[in-house]
Amino acid sequence: MKRGACFILLVMIWTVGYVQNTSLDELEKALLNASTQTERMSVLKELAFLLKNDDREKAMSYARESLYLARRLDDQYGIAEAHHTLGMIYRYQNMYDEALDHFLQALKIREEIQDEVGLARSYNNIGQISDLQGNLSEALGYYEKSLMLRLQNKDSVGIIYSYISIGEVFEKQGDFEQAISSYADALIIANAKNELKGEAFAHAKMGDLFFRMKMYENAEMHYRKGLDQSTSLDDKNGIVLNQTGLATVLTHHGQYPEAQAMLEESLVISRENGFKERTLDAYAALTRVYSDQENYERAYEYQNQYTNLKDSIFNQLKSESLAAIRARHELEKKENEILELRRRQQIDQLRNISLWGLFAGLLLLGGLAIVIYRYRIQARNNLLLSQQKEKIIAKNRQLEVSNQELEDFAYAVSHDLKQPLRTIGSYSGLIKQRYFYKLGEEGQEYLELITGGVTQLHNLLSDLLTYSNVGSNSGQPQMIHLDEVMQSVKYNLAQQISESGAELTINPMPAVPGNYSALVQLFQNLISNGIKFNESPVPRILISYIPRSNAHCIMVRDNGIGIPEEFREKIFKAFQRLHTREKYAGSGIGLAISMKVVKQHGGRIWVSEAEDGGSIFWVEFPFKGK
Ligand code: ADP
Repeated sequence: MKRGACFILLVMIWTVGYVQNTSLDELEKALLNASTQTERMSVLKELAFLLKNDDREKAMSYARESLYLARRLDDQYGIAEAHHTLGMIYRYQNMYDEALDHFLQALKIREEIQDEVGLARSYNNIGQISDLQGNLSEALGYYEKSLMLRLQNKDSVGIIYSYISIGEVFEKQGDFEQAISSYADALIIANAKNELKGEAFAHAKMGDLFFRMKMYENAEMHYRKGLDQSTSLDDKNGIVLNQTGLATVLTHHGQYPEAQAMLEESLVISRENGFKERTLDAYAALTRVYSDQENYERAYEYQNQYTNLKDSIFNQLKSESLAAIRARHELEKKENEILELRRRQQIDQLRNISLWGLFAGLLLLGGLAIVIYRYRIQARNNLLLSQQKEKIIAKNRQLEVSNQELEDFAYAVSHDLKQPLRTIGSYSGLIKQRYFYKLGEEGQEYLELITGGVTQLHNLLSDLLTYSNVGSNSGQPQMIHLDEVMQSVKYNLAQQISESGAELTINPMPAVPGNYSALVQLFQNLISNGIKFNESPVPRILISYIPRSNAHCIMVRDNGIGIPEEFREKIFKAFQRLHTREKYAGSGIGLAISMKVVKQHGGRIWVSEAEDGGSIFWVEFPFKGK
């Protein structure tokens, strides 16, 4: 190891000694007793710091746990401290890039939280790494920054080591004057603040520099002062360092036994305390002492020991570095696994959220689609309905027009036919009057057929005219008392009633809105048919009112021949008759007229069978507004 690097290490060890006085045992107990995470985090950091040189693996795991806890607690100060510690551990394994990475992370946080004491340490650490990597001017910059902060903070120990570090850089740069001035500053502060440990170290540095400058007296003076101070403090490191330096000067002066004794003592102390670098220095110095005395055998012996120790240190460092690299690799692998797990968890969460979002979105969309669909169906139905309505209205209008045309035609035909029929009737009457006896039996029979046909045709035309006239002159509907209507019917049918010997029973009737003559026509047809299509000795007609919740219902019951079920609808159509004219006279228009009247009154008409086999005609007039 280079002498410069040795000094840096020494500075660090001494600084640690200053910063950390708590023993390993105490810290391990404290770790077991830590009751809070903050406490555990802090003890872990201390332990890692303490163990960084002796048990680097343990130190690394403590430092990592400390960093983990600090992050969990969101303790920025703790995070910076943990990075700092990790940086130191890497630095002790000569893994400068990794160390620098952690030091820079600590620096960033310390800048954010304005931890000036921490910042000074960060600058110092980064300076050391630059120093070790040979970037001297960069190192100087960081050391000076650190010094400035330490001066501001009046951190005397920090100031002493900053001056020493700065002096080292100057020394490396060959600027001995500046180096001496820096070491002197360190000495002044150490003296003023009675920091004997720092002062002893500064003396050793001064001694080394003067020795390099071949100013052996100055060198000796500083080594002796340093040795005195460190002996009074029982500071083994200081003792060994100054003893080795002093022995080198003594060797130079040819004071071999003294030098030799001093170095042997140093060797023992260094071995006892595990100061490998100091042991190496002692071996080197002893080699020199013996070779100067031309005792090449002993010189070779020490040289050999020096080489062996150097190799073993190198191998140890190598294997420790390898172990550290392996451990770091494992750690990074684990961290990556954790990161990957977290990433997956986040993705899962995101996926869940997205799925729920998607589900909710779909639900919403679905709902919207249904609403839109329903709305569109409704709109289409409404459109269809209104189109249908319009069509029906148009159809009705057409029907009304064609019905009207048909009725007009029927009226015109029946009316116009009546005139020639009347001519035929009157002339056939004249022939009957004047020439009946001249015609002979056969001619008389033909003439009878003609006049019979004329009468029949006349009745048919009258009925047709009546049919086409139904409702044509109805005007505004009036409240019609059906009792009065029945009296008119009875009066009109008086002859038929008396000839047939029929018995009419008319129960009290209601009043309905309508047209008087049309209603007479309706009931006259029904009652007349009841008497006509009747073979009972006494035709009996019962007319009754059956009140209903929403309509007036009139029943016309006869004890006649009845109507087979299959004809009960058909008979309401014009010219539909179930019997010959010879058996029952008629034109087959009466019930068609009845149907037309009922419809014009907004009601309905139908027929059913009476218990005695006769027929019951039902006429229903709905209440207005219901
Ligand atoms: P018409 O009485 O001129 O024959 P309608 O239109 O009044 O014509 O009656 C049609 C047919 O219905 C009748 O020919 C008859 O066969 C049948 N009919 C009508 N009323 C009755 C009734 N009360 N009993 C039995 N049959 C009837």
